[in-house]
Amino acid sequence: MRIGFDIDGVLSNFTIAFTTILNEINPNCPVLSDNTKVFDWDYTKFLPVTNQQINQAWGVIKNNPYFWSSLETIGNLNPVIEFVNKNSYKHDFYFITNRPNTGGISSIYQTINWLRSRRIQDPQVIETNKKGTAAKLLRLDYYIDDKVENCNDVAIDNPKCKVYCVDYPFNKHTSWDIIRVASVIDYVEQIKKELER
Ligand SMILES: [Mg+2]
Repeated sequence: MRIGFDIDGVLSNFTIAFTTILNEINPNCPVLSDNTKVFDWDYTKFLPVTNQQINQAWGVIKNNPYFWSSLETIGNLNPVIEFVNKNSYKHDFYFITNRPNTGGISSIYQTINWLRSRRIQDPQVIETNKKGTAAKLLRLDYYIDDKVENCNDVAIDNPKCKVYCVDYPFNKHTSWDIIRVASVIDYVEQIKKELER
């Protein structure tokens, strides 16, 4: 099987890092612990922030060579790490992300280091905003993301792929063919069950 993972919002907690920076720029903006507090991709719709402050926060990120490699994980990823490492000799795992380079350091390099520091051996990282095309070219059987548009693109471009979406307030409206899960751990549990059949 060929199994894909998005990273931010699935494995890594981008939200707390991003809102910590926003809070330093604008102390009225609360630090959000994770995506369960995110109601829209457009933060100006539910937080007291402006587009200018969001751009300023991205400016801070783009100057930080360690931004992607320093993110926290979402909860305890041990079951996921164990599953990937135990099965990487017979199944293929891909980590597909749309992250810009920061501080002159490649986002792929930072992401590989981040996954290695979480004990994932030899992670295959792909950087693209075309997740559907990637899922098709990689012939993925399973894929998980937290962005509806990415889930839809994968379902359209690779109809045989089972597509999962992590349930958050900002992505409530997924189509019938996208499977909603509470976390990446549930995703791995479902794949495990299917592999045991
Ligand atoms: Mg994501």
